[in-house]
Amino acid sequence: MQNPNKLTARTVDFKPGERNVFLHLLTQCNLTCCHCYINPEQHGTAILSKETVFDWLQLFARPEQASNLVLLGGEPTLHPDLAEIIRAAKALRYAVTVDSNGFLFHNFLERVQPDELDFLSFSLDGPEAAINDPIRGEGVFAVCTENLRKAVKLGFRTSLICTVSALNIEHLHRMPALLAELGVRRFFIQVIGLRGKSASASNSLQVDPAQWLEVVPEIAQQAAQLGIHVTYPKVFLEPEETFSCAGLVAENYFVFPNGRVYQCPLCEDYPIHSFLVENKQLIRRVGLNEDRFFSLHIPEGCVMNKLLQPDNIDCLPDGQPKHRISCCMLKQEIAVVI
Ligand code: SF4
Ligand code: SF4
Repeated sequence: MQNPNKLTARTVDFKPGERNVFLHLLTQCNLTCCHCYINPEQHGTAILSKETVFDWLQLFARPEQASNLVLLGGEPTLHPDLAEIIRAAKALRYAVTVDSNGFLFHNFLERVQPDELDFLSFSLDGPEAAINDPIRGEGVFAVCTENLRKAVKLGFRTSLICTVSALNIEHLHRMPALLAELGVRRFFIQVIGLRGKSASASNSLQVDPAQWLEVVPEIAQQAAQLGIHVTYPKVFLEPEETFSCAGLVAENYFVFPNGRVYQCPLCEDYPIHSFLVENKQLIRRVGLNEDRFFSLHIPEGCVMNKLLQPDNIDCLPDGQPKHRISCCMLKQEIAVVI
């Protein structure tokens, strides 16, 4: 085990000029995870043609500026032209990540070279099938871990996303050892949101804030001590920390197959997107849309959280919030300094 004194923990502020494009190539998926946030009614059911994807990549590209591109879905490896799309994105100087559920359709590992992709990300919600599969589906743990091993062996840089909910938080402590054994380099711990299916699954999936604070930072430290780079949402701000909304200070585009482009992921279940892609142009929409909320200042921090998830704000007897809720895009990062 590495020396814990060499760990660095920091809050990853929105870097000036950083651009992140989250491009949903399709909404179809072979799985039916119980916390899935994909909402075909709001996001469309089309599979973007590769020609359309090439146009949209061009539209969001700033070759003079570093831009991160995350290709996702649904399950992005169901797209028959994903390998070509990755090559086109690299030619436009995007740093490219593919977020897969681990099934890697269309012989993905044979059609893409490890150096063509910055990260191949897998989703796993438990350290064994008995925890993961009730959340993500029967047999998913075996397929995902087998493909992850293959990818690592071939030389792909891999990351893993674990969505923490009431169903798996008690087993999170076993994830770091599994990741180290699999050879995963980066670990993203995600908090269950109130979007898509988890919004309608009553409160049975939600994590109690006190439990999150007690468990997640500690597990993140443990994973970092194994040499894994760990990122998890900040969620609560300390009194001395400044609140800022990524919608105002960063460039994030969440792009869906029906052309909707959101700046805030919390808004994705509502037709309040800031932009629309139409005729190969990014059009800013007028009216009462998400961007009108970003500049509102409230004691609770994030305005959309207050509107959509008021239950996760604890109040003091005088009605003031106990904690301010940070922007959901604000991350805490822990890594070992070599
Ligand atoms: S793998 Fe992703 S897109 Fe597919 S059902 Fe699960 S959460 Fe939804
Ligand atoms: S999560 Fe809140 S703070 Fe972050 S972009 Fe959305 S509205 Fe702004």
